Amino acid sequence: MDTVSLSGKELAAAINADTKDRAAALTGRGAAPRLALIVANDDPASAWYVNSLRKSAERLGIDCATVDLGADASADAIRQELAARGTDGATDAIMLQTPLPSGVTLDDVSSAIVATKDVDGVSPLSLGLLAAGLAGFVPATSEAVVELLKYHDIPLAGRHVVVVGRSNIVGKPLAQLLLAEDATVTVCHSRTADLAAVTVTADVVVAAAGRIGLVSGKHVRGGAVVVDVGTNEAPDGKIVGDVDAESVRGRAAGLSPVPGGVGPVTTALLMRHVVVAAENARRS
Ligand code: NAD
Repeated sequence: MDTVSLSGKELAAAINADTKDRAAALTGRGAAPRLALIVANDDPASAWYVNSLRKSAERLGIDCATVDLGADASADAIRQELAARGTDGATDAIMLQTPLPSGVTLDDVSSAIVATKDVDGVSPLSLGLLAAGLAGFVPATSEAVVELLKYHDIPLAGRHVVVVGRSNIVGKPLAQLLLAEDATVTVCHSRTADLAAVTVTADVVVAAAGRIGLVSGKHVRGGAVVVDVGTNEAPDGKIVGDVDAESVRGRAAGLSPVPGGVGPVTTALLMRHVVVAAENARRS
């Protein structure tokens, strides 16, 4: 079977074109949308990601301020900065980068991000709104998976989707979004007894575990669709996904590439969220 590459590049470009127009309209009315990136690490991968977010924002006409709190910032200091940005009229959108300093978890600080500016949907309030099916910002990576599947005309209603990974920022919110699309959803995780026995029953497998090569041909039913969320650094320094593409290709009907699949759509959706936050702020 030919395996279609579920590229995210065209979809990302279309989202970005719309975002750029909307950012220009806001700028024309006197204020460009403004994103604050809060960093509290000295991790090279995070620095690379922050730089790429800054470049995307710049290309789209979004002002981007980076606040570096240092890799030894306390949970209190991070919470204070997030709260200050929440009440700051000159900030429309807030993103907190990970990793956080040793001993500080996202759960320790994320409730300090006001939901109206929480463009990556990480605060407990945003996650609760999503679980309740109410309006709010949803985690961009999870949304990117659903948007990528829709863009490639992969039906979800009534289909069995198996999500591998149950983190608060990818797996769990993705399960909620898929339920909202009327999919039948199974979530697997590190304690799932026999991963392959579950994933082979899926019409769509989403790999979001952060483990190189975790999902291989034996995990995929012939004709199923596979979305690879993983972004892992291989020993040779290359970025690779969670899917062993070689063994899945020829078996799956579709497979999203890494890089060039979920990643560009995620960044595009984040930037769209920044513009939406700014539009909402100007209306209120
Ligand atoms: P995480 O470490 O917080 O969660 C990993 C999840 O995978 C956990 O729920 C764990 O139970 C599960 N898991 C681990 N090993 C497993 C195994 N052997 N079998 C089944 N389940 C297993 O990671 P995360 O933040 O959710 O990120 C997951 C991956 O997605 C990472 O590779 C990350 O880099 C990537 N990611 C990509 C984007 C993007 O835009 N493409 C954005 C965010 C995260």
